[in-house]
Amino acid sequence: MPTPAVYGNWKMNLDVVEAIHLTQQLGVLRRRSPLEHVEVGVAPPFVDLRSVGSVNEADRIGLVLCAQHVNEHESGAFTGEVSLAMLERLGVRAVIVGHSERRRLYGMDDALVASTVARVAGAGLRAIVCVGEDAEVRASGGEEAFVAEQLRAALGGLTEGARGNVTVAYEPLWAIGTGVVAETAQVAAQNHSIRVTLDELGLEAPVLYGGSVSPENAAELAREGAVDGFLVGGASLRAEAFHAVCRAVDDCYASTR
Ligand code: PEP
Repeated sequence: MPTPAVYGNWKMNLDVVEAIHLTQQLGVLRRRSPLEHVEVGVAPPFVDLRSVGSVNEADRIGLVLCAQHVNEHESGAFTGEVSLAMLERLGVRAVIVGHSERRRLYGMDDALVASTVARVAGAGLRAIVCVGEDAEVRASGGEEAFVAEQLRAALGGLTEGARGNVTVAYEPLWAIGTGVVAETAQVAAQNHSIRVTLDELGLEAPVLYGGSVSPENAAELAREGAVDGFLVGGASLRAEAFHAVCRAVDDCYASTR
């Protein structure tokens, strides 16, 4: 059974001072109310990684340092981009790959997602691979086939060594940042379908849900959606809210599994 996990994607929010403050707040909450089962990670903007990593280490907070994106090449003339080696040097252990905002706003296609996953997972870091349908695909009823195709494209060619380093985050586009949460039955159905595809690909990977997750809906989604945790956007910017989501997953794991 996979270790449950919750990752906070801070996106392009929080300058370095704010990022340090949020990290320290998380440290206080985690000391006050320790989490026993769930792995918790945060993905700050690149420029905050070093400071967040230092505070995390110095205060022994126990967060997994994550990045929001990485370039697929090893090094070279890629102005504005960041390499995996640079992230590793800062203590990054996981990278979000193919977030819908990268796919939609920066043209990250399936082939680029696949090569980036291969680089990250091949180097022994966790690749948190985002998949999910938009509202149009959902309305047509093709959401399971669409996500299955995304998974085959992203994960089909992984080497043996990389296969154990993948986490899937199912994030329907219509639920991201909208306040519209997928119904538990929709999450459970897509989750089941994802697991069938992973099986077909010979992969065992934790499956997370992301899309307007909050302390109010996390417990039900974790329990009835049968997911292994969450990728959290907006709520991860507030220490209390993020910790409450982690707490819900921790409690769910302790009581029902
Ligand atoms: C996300 O962007 O990955 C996300 C899940 O955002 P939010 O929680 O704000 O919907």
